Amino acid sequence: MKITFLGTGASQGIPMLLSDEPVNHSTDSKDKRTRSSVLIQWNNFSVLVDCGGDFRYQMLANNVQHIDAILFTHEHSDHIAGLDDIRPFCYKIGPMPIYGMKRVIDVLSERYQYIFEIENRYPGAAAVNPFVVNEYPFELGGKKIIPIKVNHGNLPILGYRIDNFAYLTDVKTIPETEFAKLQNLEVLVISALRIEPHPTHLNLKEAIAMTEKISPEKAYFMHISHRLGFHEEVSKSLPNNIYLSYDGLSFDVG
Ligand SMILES: [Zn+2]
Ligand SMILES: [Zn+2]
Repeated sequence: MKITFLGTGASQGIPMLLSDEPVNHSTDSKDKRTRSSVLIQWNNFSVLVDCGGDFRYQMLANNVQHIDAILFTHEHSDHIAGLDDIRPFCYKIGPMPIYGMKRVIDVLSERYQYIFEIENRYPGAAAVNPFVVNEYPFELGGKKIIPIKVNHGNLPILGYRIDNFAYLTDVKTIPETEFAKLQNLEVLVISALRIEPHPTHLNLKEAIAMTEKISPEKAYFMHISHRLGFHEEVSKSLPNNIYLSYDGLSFDVG
């Protein structure tokens, strides 16, 4: 299974508009972060997790030719705002299968009413085939997808586990019941927003503690804001099996 980090930034990306944090002026390409999204591929099957406003650029930057399905973690704009741009992929495969909690599918269908329209559709509009995800695993491309419930502050959202890989973004806490689903991970991807605490996101220290509790072989931090610092400096401060991700990072799992 091949993992490609398409974007690793928080909701406003780095550089952030109108911010004078030093990382915005970094010359290190690893400090340029688009909105968080990951591509997971196996046997010519490609699953995108989240589709934020940088989706089009990410497809170009990574030369992505095909997407078979999109898994949504939650309905915040930085995770959904690229939905209109899936059009060329729909021309190729027809309505895009999309998966998310009922609340998330409802928000998408309100915000992108024309995409969900069944009658009198605008010619050329993107099309989707929505599937509501509950707590039960489901099958996609011959693999079992395990939804993981996490809390984004007070908002319940989903992460996903496929084989020994799990992707948990916008996490603040994880219900005790979910830890059993996170055992024996080869790679955990989990959000680490910034240095200071935040009401709805793990900060760096909390993300390290959460990773130690889950105890994967390796972890990659993502959903990184302009207030975490420089990639190189922060990377050096991390425990041995924890890494900061960066846009374009790709590796095989399993
Ligand atoms: Zn987010
Ligand atoms: Zn969010």
